[in-house]
Amino acid sequence: MTATAVRTSRQWRGVIREYADRLDVSDATPVVTLGEGGTPLIEAPALSARTGARVFVKFEGMNPTGSFKDRGMTMAISKAVEHGAKAVICASTGNTSASAAAYATHAGITAAVLVPEGKIALGKLSQAIAHDAQLLQVQGNFDDCLELARGLAEQYPVHLVNSVNNDRIEGQKTAAFEVVEVLEDAPDFHFIPVGNAGNYTAYHRGYREELDRGATTRLPRMFGFQAAGSAPIVVGHVVRDPETLASAIRIGNPASWRLALEAHADSDGYFGAIDDAGILAAHRVLSAEVGIFVEPASAISVAGLLERADAGEIPAGSTCVLTVTGHGLKDPQWALKGPGGEEATPTSVPVDPAAVAETLGLTTT
Ligand SMILES: *Cc1c(COP(=O)(O)O)cnc(C)c1O
Repeated sequence: MTATAVRTSRQWRGVIREYADRLDVSDATPVVTLGEGGTPLIEAPALSARTGARVFVKFEGMNPTGSFKDRGMTMAISKAVEHGAKAVICASTGNTSASAAAYATHAGITAAVLVPEGKIALGKLSQAIAHDAQLLQVQGNFDDCLELARGLAEQYPVHLVNSVNNDRIEGQKTAAFEVVEVLEDAPDFHFIPVGNAGNYTAYHRGYREELDRGATTRLPRMFGFQAAGSAPIVVGHVVRDPETLASAIRIGNPASWRLALEAHADSDGYFGAIDDAGILAAHRVLSAEVGIFVEPASAISVAGLLERADAGEIPAGSTCVLTVTGHGLKDPQWALKGPGGEEATPTSVPVDPAAVAETLGLTTT
């Protein structure tokens, strides 16, 4: 090593160890971690140019199982093990099952996961199976799965790790701490997808704690977005048969509805709905103009920003943070559709430099 090679980096230790002083953990808590958190906050010039705001993307697809669920799951599984649990159960639209399966396996306990039959993305199903969960496909939707999981956890010795479990929300609030560390204050606006509204609640809690301890000068306005066919909070009542291609937010009766309304009121927030075409258009902007690949539900943060900016609701120069919740490789099929919905098939070429150059529009120099 040369004298100038000053090494300052160190390995990120996962959210419990990084934020032990701000979570309900003690020396008695076994830390079950896969190194979650510490995800990049990426500046997005293409979105800044479109909106006149200063836009950053918090890329939660960079977590160990590819979604923000890992932040809450490290807490939920660690606390479950601390309390002697040998098995956990959850309902899931996919990512919770992938995360619960990975963390339970890591801890050497069993995960039972209930998913709506035929309704979860292939990548997520593969993860739950790969991590050896007891996976059951329920003949119902997510809301039915959650009701089942809650009932089973009440009557049998299994620990519920859905976001109705406060440990999940606590772990997830650490994402707000990370944003504040990078920006050295809270943003003006925070955009986020809303399904069960646990993450909306968690970010608000994290930002609220930062303000209360004097680390920031403001509380960001929490802007949450639901898919138009699945927007109970926006329409103000339970949606019986929620529909959207964004399977991670296909939820008709959000578990954290009441908490989210409190967060909304405290932060002068906003709830809006975006239709599936708007979600896919934003998905394309994010992947083709910013270089970040997410699953469809995550793209609703981008769609929400563009919609609110178009409506003139985002003052020029505002700092906006967008949480994109899950990785694009979990549910990649949507990328294969062009902007007009046409199937994008790669052009076939012979093994011939001249032909390839011509196809690429290259001319010799
Ligand atoms: C779970 C999930 C959501 C929704 O989060 P809630 O806390 O249920 O509102 C959004 N996007 C992805 C990718 C998810 O996995």
